[in-house]
Amino acid sequence: MLRKSIATVALSGTLADKLEAAARVGFDGVEVMEADLLAFDGSPAEVRSIADDLGLAIEVYQPFRDFEAMPEPQRARNLDRAERKFDIMQALGTDLLLVCSNTQAAAIDDDARAAADLHNMAEAAASRGLRIGFEALSWGRHIRRWRHAWRILQKAAHPALGLIVDSFHTLALKDDPAGLAEVPGDRIFLVQLADAPRRDMDVLSWSRHFRNFPGQGDLPVTEFVQAVLASGYAGPLSLEVFNDHFRASPSRRIARDGLRSLILAEAQARGPEALPAIAETDGIEFLEFAVDAEAGAALASMLERLGFHLAGRHRSKDVTLYRQGRLKLVLNAEPDSAAAEHFQLHGPAVCAMALRVDDPGRAVARARALLIPDWREPAGEGEREIPAVRGPDGELIYLVERGEGELDFWQDDFHLLPTGANDGALIGVDHLAIALAPGQMDSFLLFWRSLFGLQPQPVMDVPDPYGLIQSRAMANASGALRLTFNESEAKETTTSRFLSTFAGAGVQHIALATDDIAGFVRRAESAGERLLSIPPNYYEDVQARLDLDDAATAELARLGLLYDRDASGEFHHTYTAAFQDRFFFEIVQRRGYAGFGAANAPVRMAAQARARQARV
Ligand code: MG
Ligand code: MG
Repeated sequence: MLRKSIATVALSGTLADKLEAAARVGFDGVEVMEADLLAFDGSPAEVRSIADDLGLAIEVYQPFRDFEAMPEPQRARNLDRAERKFDIMQALGTDLLLVCSNTQAAAIDDDARAAADLHNMAEAAASRGLRIGFEALSWGRHIRRWRHAWRILQKAAHPALGLIVDSFHTLALKDDPAGLAEVPGDRIFLVQLADAPRRDMDVLSWSRHFRNFPGQGDLPVTEFVQAVLASGYAGPLSLEVFNDHFRASPSRRIARDGLRSLILAEAQARGPEALPAIAETDGIEFLEFAVDAEAGAALASMLERLGFHLAGRHRSKDVTLYRQGRLKLVLNAEPDSAAAEHFQLHGPAVCAMALRVDDPGRAVARARALLIPDWREPAGEGEREIPAVRGPDGELIYLVERGEGELDFWQDDFHLLPTGANDGALIGVDHLAIALAPGQMDSFLLFWRSLFGLQPQPVMDVPDPYGLIQSRAMANASGALRLTFNESEAKETTTSRFLSTFAGAGVQHIALATDDIAGFVRRAESAGERLLSIPPNYYEDVQARLDLDDAATAELARLGLLYDRDASGEFHHTYTAAFQDRFFFEIVQRRGYAGFGAANAPVRMAAQARARQARV
């Protein structure tokens, strides 16, 4: 495994905070950015001693700009400027200076001159035992690609002068990294990694604001790392990420995400043996709600209206099991439990989910390798200990072995009640929609991608009556596990209201699958559940838009259903009222359809806003 490093610019706080965060999560080194050093109230030697105490190497000092191929008198002045940086580097205790390609209009388009200048700089550095790394900036004046920088370095031919490559600069220009495999590994002095979401914008602004960690964006960073490894490179992999959200987020969380992304990026480049394989999951075995006695009773009666029945009571804890066919929901009111802690913090809410996986032990091993904490709830005598991991916001994800005897699993811990005929229409969890605070999307995406292999779909903008919501779905290959993540900068959107009521990220809606949605609606309404009411205009629009006949449209309107269609199938769905103004259930019938009914989200959110106002 290569050493792991992060540029101080990626993290929030003072330089001392940044170093502390990087060291605590387990980085081996950092890139000290000049701007962070300038803002630091202390000498470079003090920075060195903080880093030494933390056991952190300073891999590089950066950046040194606009050096090569300048006309006189700047050319001579640049060498003086370099000498002053060398002084700082020696006080910092780092031997490598990052020089990025010149962006000045005055720079001369002359490779021989650039090579001569870099040679002179390397000579001056070498006399102090220092090294120069040269990086092609994707918006450099004349030198934008690593291959061009490498040609110049071959001309300059100085042992203290090597190449610095950066996945963003290479991949943003759609440059091919494969040729890096041919560069002698010891001529590459530093490898910087960053990913980014695809954006159609100028590369400088894209780089300064939207870079993110490998695995969080859309660039082929794995191929880049494969080429670097093939060169024989043995230096650090270093994250150089400029991101507005990261700089405003807690530095430990961002640092941990960063190290996780590097572990994943290197492992993916090295091949399948590098980490315990991703657990295969065929879906959600149960969801657990944190409640107290009062909320528990209210939720239980809502669940009964939706066709659930009480199926068991925990042998030693204040925990009940509600079932409908294979679908299981657990209501946890046990004091001194993780659920009780969750309830104190968030009120009634989903506090845990259980995934059915092929091998819980392997899933936990993979989680540990990715710095994801695991967790075990204290169990009573003879009770089952279910392995669990902590999600990105502290929520519990239980790992239940797939194919374990349906009843055995529950019998150990629960007094099961005799089940009557199942007259409910719900058969499983279709997806969960999770509300996130602005800036959390990248953390969640990396978590679900790295541990369970979920693939993200493109970001969608969904208009709420009170602002825009960004929504992104993730699913595994089989579609058995589907999650959607929503975040919104606007204060009054349904996503933001949920976050403030709930005090944090969490499951905002639970989509339950049925293969008889008409039967579900009939049963729920006769049990007294009031489903979300959809305005008549919707049906006129959907009929015209999706070319439905009159009878089908009338049936949708009669049942109050929303409808969507894609190339592969059809989708019918409806919504319950929100439970205590918090989470709600969506009931979906999916026939081959791959989406989430996003086209209907504006109508749904407007109807929910009306329902909320009617209650107030
Ligand atoms: Mg760079
Ligand atoms: Mg949904």
